[in-house]
Amino acid sequence: MKPPAFEYYCPETLDEALGLLAQYGAEAKVLAGGQSLMPMLNMRLSHPGVVIDINRLPDLNRVTVEGTSLQVGALVRHAELEHSALAATHCPILPAAERLVAHLAIRQRGTVVGSLVHADPAAELPLVWLTLGGELEVRSTRGSRTIAPEAFYLGYFMTDLAPDELAVAVRFERPAAGHGWAIEEFARRSGDFALCAAAAVVEWDAARGVVQGVRLGLGGVGGAPVRLDQAVAPLVGAVPEAELVREVARGVGQYLDPPDDLHASRAFRLHLAEVLSERALRAAVRRAQAKEVQGA
Ligand SMILES: Cc1cc2nc3c(=O)[nH]c(=O)nc-3n(C[C@H](O)[C@H](O)[C@H](O)COP(=O)(O)OP(=O)(O)OC[C@H]3O[C@@H](n4cnc5c(N)ncnc54)[C@H](O)[C@@H]3O)c2cc1C
Repeated sequence: MKPPAFEYYCPETLDEALGLLAQYGAEAKVLAGGQSLMPMLNMRLSHPGVVIDINRLPDLNRVTVEGTSLQVGALVRHAELEHSALAATHCPILPAAERLVAHLAIRQRGTVVGSLVHADPAAELPLVWLTLGGELEVRSTRGSRTIAPEAFYLGYFMTDLAPDELAVAVRFERPAAGHGWAIEEFARRSGDFALCAAAAVVEWDAARGVVQGVRLGLGGVGGAPVRLDQAVAPLVGAVPEAELVREVARGVGQYLDPPDDLHASRAFRLHLAEVLSERALRAAVRRAQAKEVQGA
């Protein structure tokens, strides 16, 4: 199918792009990698009168370390983050998550920030962003602001971004050196969106041999990814014996309200949430302990 007719703009400066967004507001759609927007136009699920292509904007294609964060500009492609040495060093869960996103051809064009803004509830990057913590930097002719992932996702494909705002970069909080991490998902075919995914980050107290801090996030279990701080609280300060990790994972269901839909029943998603939480927590603990042995 072909998309509906629209006016096309390809601004060369950020000010020009923000001016167009201010002028057209909800009538306009930003085009980044086009890997979600173009299918939506072709299937007539979206009918913008104006498309603003941001691919010529300067300085938005960098991955940098900014203080306690890893910053990713709005034109950084999935494949660039997948192979970024900075990401591998400071947030190794990000390259691992990228390997689960779609297929190589899509990762070459699709952007990290586009994925966050598109807000598919089963997408890997919103889940990892929520699990690590951080902020999105957005600009408009009215000024700039930052939004935390907890406040950004409002429901299925809905975010706090206003129609005249452009997301220019995302910052992922860098976990402490020597942390363990894991992302686990279940998809029917390689490259598909996950039916359910779990991301875990574990900070290890090597002197006491206990978990110092732990974060667990789940995707595909509702309109937006969720972070389960209360569910994992029993692990903090504890020796992460297999039985305790299993017990914590078995408890995640009480914090979730997954849908029954075409792709999976509510019961199956709850089952996946428990199994994947256990796998992710165990793998993150193993990585944290292995780093201790290696002296990382
Ligand atoms: C076959 C297929 C399989 C896929 N599988 C997966 C998968 O398994 N996991 C996964 O996570 N994703 C998957 N995707 C989606 C892919 O990751 C997209 O690249 C991503 O969702 C959107 O990034 P984009 O740069 O292509 O955004 P676009 O398609 O250009 O835009 C998406 C939306 O975000 C808005 N937008 C984009 N950038 C900005 C910005 N800077 N500021 C404001 N608004 C912005 C656009 O207006 C649009 O509404 C798949 C896509 C396809 C086609």
